[in-house]
Amino acid sequence: MYVSEVGRRMVVLACTLLLCCTGRVTSGGTAGRLRVVATIGVLADWAREVGGNRVEVTSLLSGNESPHTYEVKPADVKTIAAARILFRVGLGLEDWLDPAVENAGNKKLVVVDASAGITDIITDTEHQAKSEARSEKREATTSESLAPSPRPLTPSVGNPHVWLDPEYAKVGAANLVTELVRLDPKGESLYRARQATYSNRLDSLSSAIAAGLAELEDRRFIAYHDAWPYFARRFGLEIVAAVEPIPGQEPSARELVRLVDLIRRERIRVVTTEPQLPSALPEMLRQETGVKVVVLDPLACEGGYIAALGRAADSLKAALGAPVRP
Ligand SMILES: [Zn+2]
Repeated sequence: MYVSEVGRRMVVLACTLLLCCTGRVTSGGTAGRLRVVATIGVLADWAREVGGNRVEVTSLLSGNESPHTYEVKPADVKTIAAARILFRVGLGLEDWLDPAVENAGNKKLVVVDASAGITDIITDTEHQAKSEARSEKREATTSESLAPSPRPLTPSVGNPHVWLDPEYAKVGAANLVTELVRLDPKGESLYRARQATYSNRLDSLSSAIAAGLAELEDRRFIAYHDAWPYFARRFGLEIVAAVEPIPGQEPSARELVRLVDLIRRERIRVVTTEPQLPSALPEMLRQETGVKVVVLDPLACEGGYIAALGRAADSLKAALGAPVRP
């Protein structure tokens, strides 16, 4: 890659400043850093939080795509080929990745599942149905360069959106730290210190969200797709339905009528929408019933996961706490 002299000097200057601030010497540049490729931006954020400047982190998804409808790209294979750790959610969310991992042929690659060790996974046959449909589609259409793995696909065992519960963010970060320490023992004290700091911040986030939502009388909402069950379980909210029970597949006219009836009958105030699965349906539901439409991005990590999840909780609180319609 071409780097101008000015650019190079700026990088050197930035590194020098960073070293002044942290008082710590790394192996220099990016060459000595552990390369971590995360599937989604939230996991990349956790990796940066616990890895500091001993790791170089990239994310396959930019934040604009849904992991349910993502199509793997040839560039992803290159990224995986150059990585030491692949940090994914697991639970079948990234089963589209298996052929890319196979094609990357990276014998040193270590796969870390953020969800490993979480025992109270929420059963969700519809997320599973979608995964199976995608697998079948892939087997039918995959080009030779991304040939499907001969291994069985990762089984989908439940709802994969564990990252939206800060308690499970701690589990995910801990799973990554275990591998970081194993692969880079010299960094152990740094990784463990950063993990402890991050866990404390996640505890503060949980407390703040719980306190913020505590006063709500109406704790029910309709989610665009069922991305928030762990968040709801942690903070005592109730998701009464999903607009798209199968992510990426819009509901039938009959199902829509049922949703309209449900909103009217139960006086549901909020329907969420998400940027990665754009749809005119929430707006249609709003026009039909007066329900509020709230953007709730399950992949948000701008300013970091902690800030983003706090903002999501604030949006929900503002919408659910609004005066009841007459
Ligand atoms: Zn989902």
